[in-house]
Amino acid sequence: MRTTVGIIGAGPAGLLLARLLHRAGIDSVVLESRDRAYVEQRQRAGILEQGTVDVLRAAGAGERMDREGLPHDGVELRFDRRRHRVDFPALTGGRSVMVYAQTEVCKDLIALQLKEGGPLLFEAEALAVEDAEGDRPRVRFRHEGVEDVLECDYVVGCDGFWGIARGSLPAGLGRTFERVYPYSWLGILADVAPSHDELVYARHDRGFALLSMRSPSVSRLYLQVPAGTDAEEWGDERIWDELERRFETEDGWRLARGPITQKSVTPMRSFVHEPMRHGRLFLAGDAAHIVPPTGAKGLNLAVGDVVTFARALEHERRTGSAELLDAYSATCLRRVWQAERFSYDMTTLLHRAPDATEFEDRLQLARLERIASSRAAETDLAEAYTGFPLD
Ligand SMILES: Cc1cc2nc3c(=O)[nH]c(=O)nc-3n(C[C@H](O)[C@H](O)[C@H](O)COP(=O)(O)OP(=O)(O)OC[C@H]3O[C@@H](n4cnc5c(N)ncnc54)[C@H](O)[C@@H]3O)c2cc1C
Repeated sequence: MRTTVGIIGAGPAGLLLARLLHRAGIDSVVLESRDRAYVEQRQRAGILEQGTVDVLRAAGAGERMDREGLPHDGVELRFDRRRHRVDFPALTGGRSVMVYAQTEVCKDLIALQLKEGGPLLFEAEALAVEDAEGDRPRVRFRHEGVEDVLECDYVVGCDGFWGIARGSLPAGLGRTFERVYPYSWLGILADVAPSHDELVYARHDRGFALLSMRSPSVSRLYLQVPAGTDAEEWGDERIWDELERRFETEDGWRLARGPITQKSVTPMRSFVHEPMRHGRLFLAGDAAHIVPPTGAKGLNLAVGDVVTFARALEHERRTGSAELLDAYSATCLRRVWQAERFSYDMTTLLHRAPDATEFEDRLQLARLERIASSRAAETDLAEAYTGFPLD
């Protein structure tokens, strides 16, 4: 098999890259180790930055998002039993975000790829990337029990944190930067209308809680739990009781309960691999970097990376100059580190570490007070939340 761009992984990064290349007249093959149903049902992110929304529309993949997605103009911060709304458009010159689940983004992109794009092979597991330093890198993969080779001009590893692309880089090349947090998120999906029409980020002495949503009738809620927690330790009543406590306000706000349809625990990690390119092998999305989900940046960073790669390859095709491909890693990393910073700030602002002292509790409250009382501090949060511009 032969193609211009071999893409490993059909998460948001791999699927969007295939779509952008197709629109630019560049052929690609996507290899995905899981089956289609698994990829379409894997519950993950749900907040699309303004820039991501614009990219999906421009790629012809925004029709259902515009019909079914929920535009959000702000979030609520809750602390000390008080509420403070951050108004995004007022603070950023009109920017906002869209609530549209990653599962739906993937479904839309898969349908488009199968209808209009190049090959997308499910249950095709990449085993290794070979000869990344040469002109013809190869991906060895296994599809339906048979080993095969994909010859490419470029390989893009969009295979997530646990994929093989990053591990195919020569040992000792590059550096990793990592922080693992001593807490996780217990996330639930519940068949109940969201109790608030915007996301609520709550800082509480018992730990962080987040109220989010997937649709007007499905709520997505999260609780900070100790790292290593098993979701089955948490019965449904216990989850609702704990959420209620952490969201409690002085004005008697009520949390609506409903049947819980899904429960899972997500560990919290910050991770960056530098550089994001070696020879003709490029890393994009979670394959290169991870953020804790507090800033809602993971999916949006993946989008930024593949837009940068697609533009760079188009530029090379049009002008013969590889300057943008050569700048890929540095271009992406500028944005990645801003998202790492923001995700870290939001995480440490809102979560209670197991060894937190009263002094640190007071500092958290002071940081929240500052956001609630200073337009400059609030603008900083709103600008980062709605997204950093694509270079
Ligand atoms: C449990 C969980 C919950 C999350 N929640 C949030 C959230 O609430 N908000 C937020 O912003 N972000 C969240 N994230 C992060 C966000 O979902 C990711 O940043 C986003 O999925 C990155 O997209 P990606 O395409 O880079 O990687 P992925 O979505 O991980 O896609 C990688 C793909 O590669 C495939 N693959 C792996 N290995 C191989 C191989 N060897 N061969 C072929 N295919 C392979 C995988 O099956 C997968 O389909 C969450 C992540 C996780 C893991």
